[in-house]
Amino acid sequence: MSNHKDATENESRPFSMPFTAGVAETKTPDLKIPSCDCVICGKLDPCTIVIIGASGDLTARKLLPALFSLKLEGGLPDTFNIIGCARTKLSDDEFRNRVKSPATPPGTSKDAEWQSFAANLFYRVLDYTDQSSFESLKQFLLQLDKTRGTQGNRIFYLAIPPHLYQTVAQLIGRVGLAAEGRNGGGWSRIVVEKPFGRDLRTAIELDQRLHEYFKEHQIFRIDHYLAKETVQNALMLRFANSIFEPIWNRRYIEYVAVTAAESLGIEKRAGYYEEAGVLRDMFQNHMMQLLSLIAMEPPSRFEAEQVRDEKAKVFRSLRPFPVNDLGHSIVLGQYGPGYVDGAVVPGYRGEPDVDPKSLTPTFASIKVFIDNWRWQGVPFYLTSGKRLAAKLTEMVIQFREVPHSMFRRLFVDQISANRLTLGIHPEEKISLVFQAKNPGATVRLRPVTMDFNYSQDYSGPVLDAYQKVLIDCVTGDHMLFWREDAVELCWSFLTPILEGCETCHNQAEMLRFYAAGSWGPPSFYDALVRK
Ligand code: NDP
Repeated sequence: MSNHKDATENESRPFSMPFTAGVAETKTPDLKIPSCDCVICGKLDPCTIVIIGASGDLTARKLLPALFSLKLEGGLPDTFNIIGCARTKLSDDEFRNRVKSPATPPGTSKDAEWQSFAANLFYRVLDYTDQSSFESLKQFLLQLDKTRGTQGNRIFYLAIPPHLYQTVAQLIGRVGLAAEGRNGGGWSRIVVEKPFGRDLRTAIELDQRLHEYFKEHQIFRIDHYLAKETVQNALMLRFANSIFEPIWNRRYIEYVAVTAAESLGIEKRAGYYEEAGVLRDMFQNHMMQLLSLIAMEPPSRFEAEQVRDEKAKVFRSLRPFPVNDLGHSIVLGQYGPGYVDGAVVPGYRGEPDVDPKSLTPTFASIKVFIDNWRWQGVPFYLTSGKRLAAKLTEMVIQFREVPHSMFRRLFVDQISANRLTLGIHPEEKISLVFQAKNPGATVRLRPVTMDFNYSQDYSGPVLDAYQKVLIDCVTGDHMLFWREDAVELCWSFLTPILEGCETCHNQAEMLRFYAAGSWGPPSFYDALVRK
């Protein structure tokens, strides 16, 4: 798995981006792991998946394609129903036709498989605020349990705008669909999409409403980032190898940089984004989860509660943000017009339905510290933005320089320090940069890269993030989902920053503009790395 490549090209870039190294070229045999072992272990309970808001974008683009792929890979129970619900009037067949093309892109020739899958799809018109509408849904579910043997096991997936979460969860509960094991009922689970609240107060309120009818073990707060293979792999790398953990601390690590850059703009989601901005959209959830995987202590067992306990400890140890000195801890930006893939694209304020004077940040880079024994004094730089030069997600562990160089008489240049990169996108891989002797008679060093590409030596099924979270909802595994305490701890950390940024008198001055297609506000990292 080794591949050596000159790494100097990457060194001048901020923190991590864009760290693109070569891919391993070694060929070893496919490990031939049986595909059934890669998707599920054991038999799944029969169940009904009720998607509320099924006429929308998430259902067509993500959920139905993921469910269809799961069916093809043996990742759904033998007996299942999928019921789409929304206000739009559709028949079963109209719903099936509507979701077919995103799930079966041209060239995939899966028509027979689709027909067999589509026989399990149904559609019911639902008024999100009317209890009698939920009563009718309940009768339909009971009927399906009888005729199709789904045993009262149900997942309610809320694919609706966030302001409807509370109302819909309450109506599901009021008509008795949240109760488990009574009146012929099996298990009942509710899946809540992001965003989970817009600050600490609203997140607590949402939790309280959900808990009126659902117990914590029934609630699945999604963060699909966590279901990406390489994100999960961070824990395997750290805790299934003995060579990393001894150096995974303040003594050897200079800083950690987590980057989630997107080249896309806000697409057609101006309404949502104007309200959310990058801090709510990316930091409260995905960035915090990535941070916790790098920073957490080893749990005693790889079980959901133990892992989530350790993550919560990280969130509890976050140093309160210096809200009176935001300038050295956060950079906010907004994209202006620019070029992406050779085409001119508008700035954020020129996007449809965006206020032409909007102060919503589309970019943020923040410096965070974790006040515990392991991480004291080590900065964690978290950076995310839209309309950046490329889509790139990675976690970089930058090690310290060697404490003493015996080569100092030979080299003018400093020896660059080791860097471990966990790449999530575009390539799922692990790269380690280290120093090696430059070939030749003169004594010189050069930084080289050793890569492991995640798909190397594996040809079995690869689940996308939504497939993985859907399987986990069916099996009832909470490992990759947010727990109530963690959500609230992260909001406690972030809410003062949001308040500082949104209500301060110099809100406009805090916002730095960057050209679409660039890597963010020019030299944004200078402000953060300054001691
Ligand atoms: P949509 O905006 O497409 O809405 C889904 C459905 O909800 C619509 O088809 C519509 O159905 C109904 N709806 C929309 N607006 C209203 C309204 N104001 N009042 C009542 N009903 C309304 O949402 P998405 O499918 O994009 O997303 C669903 C959820 O998933 C959201 O919470 C979003 O934040 C989250 N999410 C979405 C992602 C995505 O990629 N789309 C990614 C991550 C999270 P009808 O009119 O037929 O009732």
